[in-house]
This record gives sequence, structure tokens and C-alpha cells, in this order.
Amino acid sequence: KSSISPLRKINNVINSYAIARQKEIDALQKNAEFRREFIADISHELKTPIFATQGYIHTLLDGAIDDKQVRMKFLKRAAKSLDSLDNLVQDLLTLNQMESGVIKFVYTDFDLKEVIDEVIEELEHKASKRKVNISFKYDSDKSYVTHADRQKIYRVCQNLIFNAVKYNHDEGEVKISLKTQKNHIQVDIKDDGQGIPPEDLKRIFERFYRVEKSRNKKEGGTGLGLAIVKHILEGHKSKISVSSTVGKGSIFSFSLPLVKEKELEKNIEVD
Ligand code: ADP
Repeated sequence: KSSISPLRKINNVINSYAIARQKEIDALQKNAEFRREFIADISHELKTPIFATQGYIHTLLDGAIDDKQVRMKFLKRAAKSLDSLDNLVQDLLTLNQMESGVIKFVYTDFDLKEVIDEVIEELEHKASKRKVNISFKYDSDKSYVTHADRQKIYRVCQNLIFNAVKYNHDEGEVKISLKTQKNHIQVDIKDDGQGIPPEDLKRIFERFYRVEKSRNKKEGGTGLGLAIVKHILEGHKSKISVSSTVGKGSIFSFSLPLVKEKELEKNIEVD
């Protein structure tokens, strides 16, 4: 009864097998390419602080060490380069551990408002060359308690708020707002800095992707901050979104579950 001849049947089976194999090969090739690129990126990023430190130390050894002023200046710069190397390795380890699932998320109930307050305080303590006005808006009579990994959410807020300052201009503004929706708390971090061109917007969450390589390098970031943010939020089944206009600024947003007061009481009772 069948209208398909046995030969065609065999042909179809072979075809679908070939297609499946080709897909596997493509995936493997893509993976290999990704690894090659990644290793090239890491090597490049590591080289920068290593070269700088080497340069300062060799210059000192070549005689600059005899001048006290030069000695202090070069040692300070070498120390700074080593600090950025340390940050880079630390960020790489964090990303790697998150990807391989070694880092477990520790969920607790905590106030998101407090976390943002702490980040702002940390920022104020850091002697920044750039004067940026930071304002933080929320309804004081509302609760912003969420259920998440506090330490990791601190990191998310820290990376986003620090970026909003870093990529701003002098006397620029950063507006942070907290809003509660039905079951969620939305965090918006808005800056009026340089903004991000549309073609880069899709890629800024990739490791080491920078919009303007040379200028941003001076800011001393590792290029991994947003990749870490994306990972942490994905781990919370949330995601980061961004909208940006060149010359006007950017808004980075994410949301986390809102713990209603009733649930909070219930949790305390259970504890
Ligand atoms: P970096 O260490 O370079 O800051 P990130 O992963 O945090 O790395 O950010 C990646 C890139 O995205 C930055 O180099 C910068 O070009 C761009 N970027 C991030 N945040 C902002 C922002 N608020 N305004 C403009 N550009 C930004």
C-alpha cells in the first residue's frame, strides 16, 4: 500500500543520519573555535598587566630605583597592575565556577534596598576621579524584600552601578530606582553617559567584549563584569535587559521576586 519505495525509505534514513552527523560536527567545530578565541582573549588580557609590571620593574632595576620619587611612582604603578591582574584572575575563576556549577547559590530573604545602599556607600568610599551625582529612588513605605543569593546580587548591583559611573561623564548623573510590580521588584540603573551603539548592545554581555577597547582599558575593568551579571541573573531565572542611546545614556534593568510580607512572616515562623 505504501507509496514510498524501499529504496527511497533507505535514502531518507541515510539523509537524516547525515544531517544529524553534520550538526554534531558543526557544534564541535563551533566549540573548538570558541575555545581558541577564548584562550586568545585571556592571553591578551593577561599580557597587558604583566607587560606593564615587567616594564616598571625592569626600569627600576636599570637604575631608576636610585631616585626616591621615581621609585615610589613606579612601585605604585606596578602594584596597581598586579591588582588588576588579580581582579582579572578572580573574575575568570568566578565565571568558570559558575559555568561548571561549582558555585552554589545560597538563597535567603533580604532587603534589596539595603544592598543598593551598601553599593552606593562602597562607591562613595572609593576615591573616584569622576564626580557623578547618584540618586536612589524608592517608595519608603514599601517593602523590597526578595528571595535570592545576597552576595551575588550585591555583585550584580555593584557591577551595574560602577559601570554607570565609569562610563559617565564628569558631573553626570546616575539614577537608581526600585519599583514593585505584582510579584517582582524591578531595578533600573540609568546613566546619562556615552551610551552604547546598537551593534554593540547585543555583545556587551560576552566575555571581554568592550565597545571601545582603548578608552575603556584605561578604566581598568576586566571586561567580564557584564558576563558575570548575566550569569548570576540567569542562575536566579531572571535576566538583564538594556536600552541605550548613543550620547544620551543607558538603562540596565533586572527584576527579582518580591517576597510579600505575609510570606515573610510565614518564613520566620517556620525558621
Ligand atoms: P568592563 O570591565 O570593560 O567595564 P563590562 O563587562 O562591565 O566590562 O562591560 C563591557 C563593556 O560594555 C564596557 O567595556 C563598556 O564598553 C560597555 N558598557 C558597560 N556599561 C556601560 C554603560 N553604563 N554605559 C556605556 N557603556 C557601558
